[in-house]
Amino acid sequence: MSSAAADQEGAITCPYCGDNVPALVPIETGMRLRLQENAQVDSIPETVCDGCFKMMAKMVSKGAVLRAEQQAKEQNRLMLWRNRVQLVKQAKQHLAQKNYSDAAVSFEKYLRVLEIVYECKPGELSPDLFKNEARAQEMTVITSVYWDLMRIYDTHQTYRERQFKAAEKLAAFVRFTPIFPHIMRKAESQTRSAKNPDAFQKFLKLSNAKRPRCFIATAAFQGQRTMTVETLCSFRDQYLKTSAQGRRWVAVYYRFSPSVASFLDKHPRLKPATRKLLAWIANSRFVRNRLNT
Ligand SMILES: [Zn+2]
Repeated sequence: MSSAAADQEGAITCPYCGDNVPALVPIETGMRLRLQENAQVDSIPETVCDGCFKMMAKMVSKGAVLRAEQQAKEQNRLMLWRNRVQLVKQAKQHLAQKNYSDAAVSFEKYLRVLEIVYECKPGELSPDLFKNEARAQEMTVITSVYWDLMRIYDTHQTYRERQFKAAEKLAAFVRFTPIFPHIMRKAESQTRSAKNPDAFQKFLKLSNAKRPRCFIATAAFQGQRTMTVETLCSFRDQYLKTSAQGRRWVAVYYRFSPSVASFLDKHPRLKPATRKLLAWIANSRFVRNRLNT
């Protein structure tokens, strides 16, 4: 089935949670001491991924005097966060052995862990929680989990309702991930081969309605609404689309940008340079002048 594209994106492994990430951040002495004293977390590595760093910073910032009960809760959250990757790995192993119900249980546990860590109600995970760059990669994992769940739920009639819920969640998350075109293609083929094609059709309908329009910006900026993306979209809508020539350029852009986007997804190392180039274009006098008039 699907592989988490996030796993391939970076070459460095976070020593705390085991995620593959583009970069690690150091934990300075002050924070290390506060983690040991206030949260009683031992064995903290020198460097961790951005996601782990944010979780740890959050724990520390909750104040020096945490009540024992609260402290236990925070420690538990950090442990859950750390072990969540393991749950996905377990689920994938079950899946490889066609052990669908155990796979579903592990995937559902992973989603439950995220709900606890992000303090939201069951079934209420939303992309808003993962907006910043450090968490954006998690959305690819979430997307692949919902996709696998949709396939698993397809094996039995009793899972129909859950399958439709997973379709909704998948549509909400997929547009923020680099695996968007990949999942869309697979869903299209499922509408012909699935036991319950309606669920896949529902997913396609929902995600087509929300389909991102700037493919390069989506791939390069991983779906985040940065200033550059906003500026380029305004340039398209307020300037290019107002003339016949401009509309032709927009059409050309949309003809080529899906291939550029998938090229970028295959070569993520080119993304920072692409972001710089797009930012340069968005800040250029040419674009600025046309937006101000
Ligand atoms: Zn980590």
